[in-house]
Amino acid sequence: MAGRGHRTISINCNVILISGEEDVPAPSCTVCREILDLHQPEIDRPDRFLATCGNCGAWHLLEQPEAGDHAYLARLPDLPELLQADRRTGIRRPRAQSG
Ligand SMILES: [Zn+2]
Repeated sequence: MAGRGHRTISINCNVILISGEEDVPAPSCTVCREILDLHQPEIDRPDRFLATCGNCGAWHLLEQPEAGDHAYLARLPDLPELLQADRRTGIRRPRAQSG
């Protein structure tokens, strides 16, 4: 994994608002429109899901405010997008030589 230190890169993230009256909406993939598989990694956060696409492999974050009538669906960036954003950031510091 990462070496010493870290730096920050910026990336755009489009968020889709899903209206619905169900407790948990059945969102579709923002890339290929397949119905997403919902995972709940935090058992004490029933309003927050990782939504993955079994067709194209895209990952999304799905959050539904308790008092809201819609949920937010944000597709998470994949590695090519992260690499592209990293290149756009531009400045690369030379690594310190050890020894
Ligand atoms: Zn998909």
